[in-house]
Amino acid sequence: MQVVQDTGEIIETPLTPEDLALSWKKSVCPYCGVGCGVLVGSKTGRVLKVRGDHNHPANHGLLCGKGATLPQMVHTPDRLAHPMMRTARQAGLQPASWDDALGRIAAEWRRIIRDHGPNAVAFYVSGQLLTEDYYVVNKLAKGFLGTNNVDSNSRLCMASAVSGYMTSLGADAPPGCYADIELADCFLLIGTNTAACHPVTFERIRRRKLRAPGRVKVLVADPRKTRTADIADIYLPIRPGTDVALLNAMLHVLVRDGLTDARYIQRHTSGWDAIAALVEQYPPERAAELCGVAADAIIAAARLFGRARAAMSFWSMGLNQSTHGTAKNNGVINLHMATGQIGRPGAGPFSLTGQPNAMGGRETGGLAHLLPGHRLVADESHRRAVETLWGLPAGRISPTPGLTAVDLFKQMAEGRVKSVWILCTNPMVSMPNLSLARRALEQAELVIVNDIYHPTETTQLADVLLPAAQWSERDGTVTNSERCISYLEQAIEPPGEALPDWQILCRFAQMMGWGEAFGFANAEAVYEEYKSLTRGQDLDIGGVTYDRLKQGPLQWPCPTPQHRSTMRRYTTGVFSHPDGKARFLAHEYKAPAEPPDAQFPMALTTGRVRDQWHTMTRTGKIPVLMKKEPEPFLELHPQDAAPLGIGEGDRVTVRSRRGEASAKTRLTTTITPGTCFMPFHWGGLWGEAVVNQATTDAYDPTSKQPELKFCAVRLEKVTSDT
Ligand code: SF4
Repeated sequence: MQVVQDTGEIIETPLTPEDLALSWKKSVCPYCGVGCGVLVGSKTGRVLKVRGDHNHPANHGLLCGKGATLPQMVHTPDRLAHPMMRTARQAGLQPASWDDALGRIAAEWRRIIRDHGPNAVAFYVSGQLLTEDYYVVNKLAKGFLGTNNVDSNSRLCMASAVSGYMTSLGADAPPGCYADIELADCFLLIGTNTAACHPVTFERIRRRKLRAPGRVKVLVADPRKTRTADIADIYLPIRPGTDVALLNAMLHVLVRDGLTDARYIQRHTSGWDAIAALVEQYPPERAAELCGVAADAIIAAARLFGRARAAMSFWSMGLNQSTHGTAKNNGVINLHMATGQIGRPGAGPFSLTGQPNAMGGRETGGLAHLLPGHRLVADESHRRAVETLWGLPAGRISPTPGLTAVDLFKQMAEGRVKSVWILCTNPMVSMPNLSLARRALEQAELVIVNDIYHPTETTQLADVLLPAAQWSERDGTVTNSERCISYLEQAIEPPGEALPDWQILCRFAQMMGWGEAFGFANAEAVYEEYKSLTRGQDLDIGGVTYDRLKQGPLQWPCPTPQHRSTMRRYTTGVFSHPDGKARFLAHEYKAPAEPPDAQFPMALTTGRVRDQWHTMTRTGKIPVLMKKEPEPFLELHPQDAAPLGIGEGDRVTVRSRRGEASAKTRLTTTITPGTCFMPFHWGGLWGEAVVNQATTDAYDPTSKQPELKFCAVRLEKVTSDT
C-alpha cells in the first residue's frame, strides 16, 4: 500500500503472507470527494486491512492517512446495532424492534401530515449516503409523502459550485477529469487547502509540479498560507471573502495584455461585452487594495494563467461557503471561458467535492430544488417525466422547491416543520449557528436519526434512532468529484439488526402502504430504476450496469453499453444552455454578510485539518490520527494577539453575535492579519471548542449555501478568573 504522508513522502507497505489469506473486495474510501479506490481485506466477518486500488483512476493505488486507517473505524464499541426509542424527551433511549420503531414514525408522520400538511415533515441527508439511498429518499419524499423537503449537508459544501456550473455552463459538474492534472501546465488553487482536504489529488498536482518545476506553474490564493502554498510559484494571501475582486482583476489583466481567446469567446460564449465592461473597473491596483495583496502579484498570476498551454483551476469550500459563493464560482469559470481553457486535455475549472458522494446525491435529486436525473422541481415537464416513471398522477410532485438546510432548521425552530429524519450526518456539529440548530431539534415533535454510531452530538437528541449499515457492510455506488461512478462491494455483514439506509426507507414506505413502489429486491434494482430517469439527460448513464462497474469505474455521461465513459465534456465547445453557449456572468465584489466592526473586530474563518474527517465520528476513534492533531486550536497572527495579551498556547474565547467557542491559540504569521481560524471538526462531545456556535447562517441567495468561512468575532483571553 502507498500512503501519502503529510510531508509529501510516500510510505509503501508490501503485501504480507497474512494479507494473501484475506478475502479482498473492491470499494471506495468513504471520506473525501477524491473518491480513492480501495481494496478491503476481511476475514471471519471483520475488516482487517485496506489497500489503495492501483486500477482506480482517482488514486492509482495512493491513499492518505485517513483512507489507510479505515479498518479501525468499522468495529468499535459504540456501533449502533439495534433500533432505539425514547417515550419522552427526558427519558433514555431504549431498545425497540424495527416494527415498533418504524410503526411509530409512520403513525406520527401520518398524523403530522394530516394536521399540518406534508411540508411539516422533512429529511436532512448526507453526501456520504450512497446513490441508492439518495434515490430512495427522494422518491419517498417527493413522489409519495408529497414534500420536496429533502436537503443535504452537501448544501453546506457544494451548493455554490452547483449553481456556478448551472449558471455559467448550463449544467452541473466539472467538465474535466483527474487525468488532466498530468497534462496541465498551470494550476490555480483558490479557496482550497488541497494538501489537507484532498491529499491524493494534491499529491498528483505536487508530482506534476516537481517533474517540470520550470514549466508547470502553481498559483495559490488563500487567506492562510497552508501546505498547499508550499508548491506555489505565486502565493496570494488574500483577505477572506475578496475572491471576486481578485478574479475580476485577473480577467482585467488578461484583457489588457491581449491574453484572451477572441475566437473562442465569439464562437462559444455569450455575455462578453458586459463582463469586459465590468472588469475594466477592476484594475489590479484596485483589487490589491480590496484583497490586501500586491498588484504586481495579481498581474503575474494572471499572466501565468493566460500564457499557459493548459490551465486547471481547483477550489472547494473557500469559494463555496460564502454569501457570494455563486459569484465566486462564476468568476473562476469566466477565466477559463475567456482563455478557451475548457473542454480540452489539461484544461478546465474543477470544483473539489468535500464528500464521497456529493455528486451522486445531486444526480439523484438530493437537494431541495432537484429531482432525479438533474431535473428541477420548478420545471413542469421535469416533474411530469418523474411522475410518469414513478407511476404517479400528474401534479403529485409539488412545484415548490423544498426547504434548504438553513431554512429547514429555522422553520423547525419556529415550529412549522414538526418532524425531521436525519440520515448519515451530524448537524449538531456541522450546521452554522448551532444554538439555533439545537433549538430546532428540541422544538421538533419527532426527531428520527439513522446512524452507525451512538452517541453522536445529534443521536443524543433523537426520539427514534435507527442502526444503519456502513461502509464495507453493504453494496452500492458513489460518484466522485470527476463524475466517476464506482461500485462498492459488500465485504462483511452489518452488526446486529443494522440495515442499509435504502432498506430502512423502503420498510417505512411499506408501512405507509407504498410497498409496491418500494419493493426493490436489492441495491442493483434501485440503481436500475434510477438509471431509467437519466436517459436523454446530460448525465445519461443508460450504459452503466453493476456488472460493468464491477470491472472498473465509469464517468458519466455513458449512455449505451458500448460507450466507454466521458473523460471531458464540452470538447466541441457546445455548452448546455439552450443556445449552446457558455455565459460570462459579471459580478461586482461585495463584502461578506457580517463585516468586522468595533464590537467584533476580527474575521473568523473555519475549515479542516488533514487527519480528521467532518465531525470526527469515525476519525476521532483512530489513535494514530488523533495523535497528529489531538485537540482543536485557534490560529492567530501575532500582530492580532499582542494587543490582547494573548500568547502561544493561551486559551481564548471566540465570541460572535450568536455564540462562542474556545480553544488554545497557535500563533502564526501564515494567516492574514485580522483573520483567525478554527477547524470545525470538534463537537460538543469533545468539550467547548465547537466553532459553529459562533458561525453565521447568512447564505448565498442563489445557492443557499451558508457563509461558514466568514463571520465577525472578538477574542477574549481566558484567565483563571473568567
Ligand atoms: S480521504 Fe480522500 S484522499 Fe484520503 S484516501 Fe480517502 S478519498 Fe483518498
